Amino acid sequence: MVGTLQFTMTTTDASAALRDELDAINAKITKQASCVRELKKAASSADEIAAAVDALKDLKIESESLRKKMENLDPTAQFNRRVFDELILRKMFIVPSFEIHGGVKGLFDLGPPACAVKAAMVDVWRKHFVLAESMLEMECTCLTPEIVLKTSGHVDRFTDLMVKDPATGECFRADKLLEDAIEELIESNPDMPASEKEGHLRVQIQADAFSPAELDEKLVEYGCKAPSGELYGPSFPFNLMFKTSIGPEGTAVGYLRPETAQGLFVNFRRLLDANAQKMPFAAAQIGLGFRNEIAPRSGLLRVREFCMGEIEHFVNPDDKSHPNFPSVASKELVLFGRDDQLGSGKTKSIAIGEAVSSGIVNNETLGYFMARTQLFMERIGMDPNRLRFRQHLTTEMAHYACDCWDLEIQSSYGWVECVGHADRACYDLDVHSKATKTPMLATLKLDEAREVEVAKLKFDRKSLGKTFMADQRLVSGALETLAENWADFEPIANALETEGKATVDGFEITKEMVTWKKTSKKVHEIKFTPSVIEPSFGMGRILYSLLEHSFYQRDADEQRCVMRFKPAVAPQKCAVLPISSGEGVNAVVDEIAAELMESDLATRVDKSTASLGRRYSRADEVGVPFAVTVDFDTLIDGTVTLRERDSTVQIRLPKSDVSRVVFDFVHGRFTWEEAIAKYPVVQVKVD
Ligand code: AMP
Repeated sequence: MVGTLQFTMTTTDASAALRDELDAINAKITKQASCVRELKKAASSADEIAAAVDALKDLKIESESLRKKMENLDPTAQFNRRVFDELILRKMFIVPSFEIHGGVKGLFDLGPPACAVKAAMVDVWRKHFVLAESMLEMECTCLTPEIVLKTSGHVDRFTDLMVKDPATGECFRADKLLEDAIEELIESNPDMPASEKEGHLRVQIQADAFSPAELDEKLVEYGCKAPSGELYGPSFPFNLMFKTSIGPEGTAVGYLRPETAQGLFVNFRRLLDANAQKMPFAAAQIGLGFRNEIAPRSGLLRVREFCMGEIEHFVNPDDKSHPNFPSVASKELVLFGRDDQLGSGKTKSIAIGEAVSSGIVNNETLGYFMARTQLFMERIGMDPNRLRFRQHLTTEMAHYACDCWDLEIQSSYGWVECVGHADRACYDLDVHSKATKTPMLATLKLDEAREVEVAKLKFDRKSLGKTFMADQRLVSGALETLAENWADFEPIANALETEGKATVDGFEITKEMVTWKKTSKKVHEIKFTPSVIEPSFGMGRILYSLLEHSFYQRDADEQRCVMRFKPAVAPQKCAVLPISSGEGVNAVVDEIAAELMESDLATRVDKSTASLGRRYSRADEVGVPFAVTVDFDTLIDGTVTLRERDSTVQIRLPKSDVSRVVFDFVHGRFTWEEAIAKYPVVQVKVD
């Protein structure tokens, strides 16, 4: 959306410079490790391999020391990015796109485990939002003609401010340079007086709202220099959309959509019909968005192509209550209101019901979606202590927006906006309606007829026809619509009276074309342009944050990484392992795996000769929550062990119970606590 186009990466991380350094070293480690592997594969000389291994060790020592330094500055830095990154790449959660051709910045591919987690996450999203609220889901095209994005404001305003290094032409995002400079300044001056620090933080928080001139001034003030050592050139807006042409002539300009929302807005009339004209209602869409980010960085957090999930909730602007609000009113959310951002810098934990009634959050529908987003995050396994809602500063919001709150998730990159919640008023429907001269109105049927002030119009058809010819109906129609409510028509009446002309939907009308009389009439229904409340989810950012929140090292051991995915989002739900390679045992493994898969439970069979402990570890690394082991007793009494990933506790149960029990775990109908109460816990020595 245009109003909040700037990438918000508010960071409380007081170690940005160290983090960048660490990132660079970790990238070198990944490269060096692959170089060692290549040398070994190519059977290179022992000396050559030893030298490469030594270089790798040195890099790891350097990385560890940087990580320790970061840990002292920031407790979230305890997360070991190097080990995490290695795991993510090794297990093929995420890989750089077109890697063997050198890769392209800001483009990534999801490998099998991440694909499965994403699919499960999207499935939960659909159930939690689309299904639970009977939303109307659509799948609109990514290719969008220019007129649509011109109308929405993206062609003119979907920009970030960019500066160039005058010596090299290298491009940078200007607000990020300022934010980083301020962070560095604060970090390098630990004794800075609090009031001075507050002043700098205030500038930092507003960095993405400055005009080009203001930003240029600030870059000079904070001593920002280009890598060449020269001052940056003047900042200028850079449009983030990917331009293309539609059709072989190359004359019809199109863009890859920067968000999915426009497809829903332009379909509003059909959607309203599909909903039998009932209001309020919501439409939803999951699909790709494309943004030509100036400086993609931070892994999946700022990329050039990403999956979005957007909801457009259409509501009467005079009644933004939500029928289901009472069901979430007591839900506590961590709010970072605009006053707190500019003042104390502290967040508040508050029930959403209270936040709405006290006016902190503008209305029930907005508050309702914020609470539902929090519940969604908890449902997929995000750490609730690392979630907060940050309100947009007034300088950050589009002029038409009433209120905006971003759900930010804390990861090793700081607090990152992952879901925007915006009350966009009537802007979107209005602009498309005006540009296409298509009424985008909903109707409120009144319980009792109401007296309303209207304008009664009389047209001079000759004069209208002479000026507007084929369009005369459009002009009179637009005037009739306004005349249904005197408050809407009054500005036109005033303009015609004082200036002799007025503009209606892009048509200039003059005084002789229409006369009017203010009157009142009884109405049984009221027509209005709906307001839009839009929760906009960045699925890629959510997926990445979930990977970080799920990662841990058992007993701080780098060799024993675990992803603690909830069963519902785990890429595979159960591992099935034979204790030995005997035929009888393997047959039971196949039998259990087939039963699990028949119940639509993705299953991992590991018949390799690795030790059982090693095979459990491999399953832990991709977050498989349960592992069934078939042993010799199985052949005697038909029972197997079932291990829970995080506690590593094992129970013994009949093999015929396995698929039902795992199915119930995945669907939240049975808990591990209930399982240990029902089945005997067994001590198993794992080698
Ligand atoms: P916006 O329309 O700018 O509010 O973006 C909606 C959501 O898309 C944000 O909350 C982010 O989660 C996500 N998003 C925006 N830009 C990017 C990007 N470059 N890479 C990944 N996700 C993004």
